Amino acid sequence: MPLMHSDTENHGLAVLIGAGPGDPSLVSQAAKEWIGLADIILYDRLSAPQLLALAGPDTELIDVGKTPGSHAMSQNQINRLLVEKCQPGRVVVRLKGGDPLIFGRGGEEADALAEAGIPFRIIPGITAAQVAAAYAGIPLTDRRVASSVVFVTGHEQPDKAESAVDFDALARIDTVIFYMGVSNLQQITSRLIQAGRSPKTPAAIVHRASTPQQKTLVATLETLSGQAVKAGITPPSLVIVGEVVKMHDRLGWFEKLPMFGQTVLVTRPMDQAGELGRLLSTHGAEVIYAPAIEIDKPKCFDELDSAIARLNQFDWLVLTSSNGVRGFFDRLGELSLDARALGSLKIAVTGPSSAASLGEFFIKPDLIAQPHTTAALAEALIADGIDGKKLLLARTDIAKPNLPDALRSALAEVTEANSYCTGRPGNLPELAIEAIRAGRVDWITFTSASTVDNFLALASQAGLNLSGIKLAAIGPVTAGALESHGLEPALTAESHTAQGLGSAIASNI
Ligand code: SAH
Repeated sequence: MPLMHSDTENHGLAVLIGAGPGDPSLVSQAAKEWIGLADIILYDRLSAPQLLALAGPDTELIDVGKTPGSHAMSQNQINRLLVEKCQPGRVVVRLKGGDPLIFGRGGEEADALAEAGIPFRIIPGITAAQVAAAYAGIPLTDRRVASSVVFVTGHEQPDKAESAVDFDALARIDTVIFYMGVSNLQQITSRLIQAGRSPKTPAAIVHRASTPQQKTLVATLETLSGQAVKAGITPPSLVIVGEVVKMHDRLGWFEKLPMFGQTVLVTRPMDQAGELGRLLSTHGAEVIYAPAIEIDKPKCFDELDSAIARLNQFDWLVLTSSNGVRGFFDRLGELSLDARALGSLKIAVTGPSSAASLGEFFIKPDLIAQPHTTAALAEALIADGIDGKKLLLARTDIAKPNLPDALRSALAEVTEANSYCTGRPGNLPELAIEAIRAGRVDWITFTSASTVDNFLALASQAGLNLSGIKLAAIGPVTAGALESHGLEPALTAESHTAQGLGSAIASNI
């Protein structure tokens, strides 16, 4: 979005943003862009970590849901802080759950900004009613049964004399949605019945819509509160009353996904975790990222540079991972060269992800190992006839010697060079540690032997107990690494790709 200098020069600029239900894939593009531009973010949502990760490294993050004394700030304090932080030149983002203007007190915050003469923007978010409707399969309107819908706060004591909620009017609306209705559920439902709504009207409560903890309870207006108590439903939950609730049985899709309710830890480095993570989420899993590897440049470029200087003498360039590909081409770029330096050099890769990374440079590999293992790669090269041929292997510094050994035993002349380095991050992310401690993690995925070694070291450093968690390996080498630590993989993917691993877990539930 265009941000003019004049927008911020006199006062700073405040942006009230609807963060939606917390799942970052459901937040608007505008929200993401503003979060990226923010100098300061005032947030109060539990689910904010993934969204906050979109902020720049220097962005000041302020949790206004908690103060050091650990109780929430009052609305007045938040308004004051918001105004105070809007100093000239700054973009201050106020991140709010759902939509800021639906039971979000965004109106009061915007009012405080207007009062102080501070310019502001308001970016809508998906409100809980929309999320619950979509993820529980309960259309809010349907021309066959519901032409009107109303959003109501359930927070007020319905019997208090000055109640702002007109139940007689509500009883005439087809679909009635209560936010914050759990604690007053009994009063809300009986007031609707007293106001003339049939006790048999279908009614549902949707707990934590769109999260792995989602639970939809369907009953009638007269039985809902009793059943909700029995089922132990707590906030945040949304109450939906009306004929549309009947459609949940047929249209509810989310809670029926094969991996719904399962939590999976992905240990790949962040820039490669997305594909596996997305696949698992599409199957309904909750994905927690816990990168066990950091990718860096090699500590020393001597071998790689000297190989690049005589690239035309090689017959094959062998790349065994996406990182290997990127590291190699990054170095070519740093040496002011480009893909043309490869000339007629043939290129062999282990699998589709390295091939896809090559594709980023508009290069097609001459050979892709099948299956996608280094053993199969060696076999395929040997079958191609590498006796006396010159091969350049650009890999990580900690790669195992099996591949070069196999190639050398077939009388190839192998040059090894580091194109990237793998390191171990300092810690596992707090979110991952908490989930393991709480016993919420069902699977941990491993995509290389080094993710196994690093993750286990980080887990032991954090004092975590992994017993009872199923471990999934992308292939036999990774499985072997688990076994070498005395751990039995619950599953080894037959197709050694992120896709293969994700599908194997989904079909193993
Ligand atoms: N501004 C927010 C609402 C804040 S009020 C929005 O537009 O969604 C808080 C109430 O929202 C909760 O008490 C609950 O009724 C509802 N809510 C928020 N997230 C929810 C979720 N994931 N599932 C069900 N209800 C939710």
